[in-house]
Amino acid sequence: MKGILYIVATPIGNLEDLSPRAQRVLSEVDLIVAEDTRHSRPLLNHFGIQTPMQSMHEHNEQDRVSALVERLHQGDSIAQISDAGTPLINDPGYRLAAEARAERITVSTVPGPSAPIVALTLSGLPVSRFCFEGFIPVKQQARQQYLEALAAETRTMIFFESPRRVLDTLHSMMHCWGGQRRVSVARELTKLHESIYTAPLSELIPWIEADANRQRGEFVLVVEGAVEQQDDTEAYRMVKILAKELPPRKAAALAAEITGVKKNQLYRSLME
Ligand code: SAM
Repeated sequence: MKGILYIVATPIGNLEDLSPRAQRVLSEVDLIVAEDTRHSRPLLNHFGIQTPMQSMHEHNEQDRVSALVERLHQGDSIAQISDAGTPLINDPGYRLAAEARAERITVSTVPGPSAPIVALTLSGLPVSRFCFEGFIPVKQQARQQYLEALAAETRTMIFFESPRRVLDTLHSMMHCWGGQRRVSVARELTKLHESIYTAPLSELIPWIEADANRQRGEFVLVVEGAVEQQDDTEAYRMVKILAKELPPRKAAALAAEITGVKKNQLYRSLME
């Protein structure tokens, strides 16, 4: 019998968020693979979990994968955790999970907290279509180019940012997208000083600048998507056809009613 690889989510700030199932799986597996064993030890001690641990981070993941897959083949079960939240999401674990799946080893999950999803649900911004962008480039020129490339993105966007750069990044966002774009700053989620502030960039930046505490801790930025550009081509085609049979004002009114494009706009197009 092959072992099972479990991807186990751990708290992003509040220890009570480690689910009973996560506690059981972490106690029962043969090995816990952690991003940083020193970081995860207090969490496991808190729950009395004594399973052996091994580290796997971005610098040694490639080297560790084959030995871990071999252990899974031999019947050991392994739990993968990261410092906080859901492994693989901007954290180590992708290579191991992909390789295990390719080797027909069962990969299972114990789902739980993930900072981007927690921030999205608290942001007050549309949640039905969103994209996760991870960390924003650090250098100013690269950051600006990267944000400009996202100017027309209509889905809600989620970014990670460090406290040292959050203000610079908000200024770059305002430069690229204008002051009206609404952004939610989610800070210290699930911790004692959790705060969520959602406002247009022109209001948000002075609010953060007003208090140095508002620039401390861990951050997720959730950004409202761009307003979808209406494709008016069909409306202009329609008003021209109607104008062959009807007076221009009537044609414009009918086409506006059908397509939702402004009547004056359509009338003007006929006059031009
Ligand atoms: N895999 C993790 C997850 O699922 O939440 C994300 C790991 S990523 C390397 C770490 C980043 O997530 C931090 O730099 C910060 O931007 C964000 N983050 C993690 N915990 C957070 C918290 N409690 N409040 C706000 N942001 C947090």
